[in-house]
Amino acid sequence: MRLLDRLDQELGDGAGLVAILDYDGTLTPLVASPGAATLAPSVRGTLARLAGCERARLAILSGRGLADLRARVALEDVVYGGCHGLEIAGRDLHFRHPRAHRSCLTATRRALAAALPSIPGARLEWKGLAVSLHYRRVSPRRRLDVRKVAERILRRGGLTLVPGHAVFDFVPRVGWNKGRAARWIASQMKSTLPARRAVVLYAGDDTTDESAFVALRGRAVTICVGTKPTAAEYRVRGVREIHALLRRMASTMAS
Ligand SMILES: [Mg+2]
Repeated sequence: MRLLDRLDQELGDGAGLVAILDYDGTLTPLVASPGAATLAPSVRGTLARLAGCERARLAILSGRGLADLRARVALEDVVYGGCHGLEIAGRDLHFRHPRAHRSCLTATRRALAAALPSIPGARLEWKGLAVSLHYRRVSPRRRLDVRKVAERILRRGGLTLVPGHAVFDFVPRVGWNKGRAARWIASQMKSTLPARRAVVLYAGDDTTDESAFVALRGRAVTICVGTKPTAAEYRVRGVREIHALLRRMASTMAS
């Protein structure tokens, strides 16, 4: 069944909605620098309408740090999941993975900072429960060096490497990912909905979102943004289609 028809049908009879959305590449177009990925006011407006619906709950789950993500979206009544879901907050939810500590990252952060001068263009970002090595501005012929440095530092142990768009995120190895986080968010948020039945929707564009597509199989409407191979049930071309989908759901849920 086509995606829009399915959502119209499932949401039309008073069901609740839990929408879990990735940020970069899903709500904002991918841009040359992560700092420039700002949310369009029209998209923010639609998200606010959806979050304000009595029978809808909205979560935004990202590899970004929690404070950064929250500042970019800047909406109340939204649940935010930062560092691939290691930290979740909003709408009275407070979660931090019990085995993820900032101290797990100290040695790696220091080793990365020491290696940085050897990779021109690379940049470090401290996200609290993750440390990220950005290499978008590293020349293509030096990118193999970036991977080698990342892998060498990773061998110190305790952390796992999550590759993203021109970034390596070092996160505590605690068996957590966007899939586990999305399942947790969905169950928490469903219990706060007045409706007996709730549709869970997950949309994302990155490799890290694949863990959520798999974890939510048969439990959610999963949507991949872009053209890469995916475990998601549906596929859309880009941010514009996601926005159209959110607008449609906001209208359905408000009526
Ligand atoms: Mg993304």
